Amino acid sequence: MYKDIATPTRTKEILEKYGFSFKKSLGQNFLIEPNVLHRIVDFAQLSERTGVIEIGPGIGALTEQLARRAKKVVAFEIDQRLLPILADTLSPYTNVSIIHEDILKADVQQVIAEQFTDVDDIMVVANLPYYVTTPIIMKLLTDRLPIRGMVVMLQKEVADRMAAKPGTKDYGSLTIAVQYYTHAETVMHVPRTVFVPKPNVDSAVIRLLKREQPAVSVSNEDFFFAVVRASFGQRRKTILNNLLNQLPNGKEKKEQIENALANAGIDPKRRGETLAIAEFATLSEQLYPIFY
Ligand code: SAM
Repeated sequence: MYKDIATPTRTKEILEKYGFSFKKSLGQNFLIEPNVLHRIVDFAQLSERTGVIEIGPGIGALTEQLARRAKKVVAFEIDQRLLPILADTLSPYTNVSIIHEDILKADVQQVIAEQFTDVDDIMVVANLPYYVTTPIIMKLLTDRLPIRGMVVMLQKEVADRMAAKPGTKDYGSLTIAVQYYTHAETVMHVPRTVFVPKPNVDSAVIRLLKREQPAVSVSNEDFFFAVVRASFGQRRKTILNNLLNQLPNGKEKKEQIENALANAGIDPKRRGETLAIAEFATLSEQLYPIFY
């Protein structure tokens, strides 16, 4: 077994050897605590037959732990300066491929088809760059990839919103977007001290296990999400007021919107944050014929 990359001493050695300077704009906060990495990998429940997609391998701290436990790891890294470093630090592992690409621009479906021909399941595991956590997660979910789920580190505040329950302050359109596709659970809180450099925010690890079918069945997904966003438009307003103000020509359709709420069994004075995902689906089905 090789020495872990993710110790303070080894990380410092690697960074000094290559004269690497962190780019804040790329969300570069590297993990230097092997125990945290072991726990992240445990939560992903990998087998020797699992294919793993990693986003942002950095100098390979998490990548090597994944390589030891999975069949194959494919990691997307945007920063060209890290490629020679990764070639060095990950040289003992023959089951790792690094792709030099912005994950947001990558055709992940195609990469999976090419690289994971002989695996039983696929997991996304990453310590995400915090400036783009939500776009990355939403891209991976809406691309409908054949993955079992994701175990990712992100800002605690964003994890709280993704895993929130109705009626709480964190519950909002991001909660619905994520829970439409997955079962979401915050599995770990992570102190700032396990990164170099230390981030300015608290971190958490969230596990998103993909549902076999979306949580609710709706006629038009785009419209469903438009209704959700409208309902949370102004959090202090009632659902009726938000729908009137936020849906196109809502005010002109007041009576129809009131009827749709009544048919859905939803009190117009409620606030969006009290509606469960199934209620949003019923409401969206009632509103749909009014707008299409
Ligand atoms: N996995 C390493 C670790 O845990 O120590 C590094 C994690 S660091 C928080 C985020 C990594 O994502 C950096 O290596 C950064 O260069 C990379 N990155 C940032 N934006 C990216 C993007 N759009 N696509 C792919 N990688 C990105």
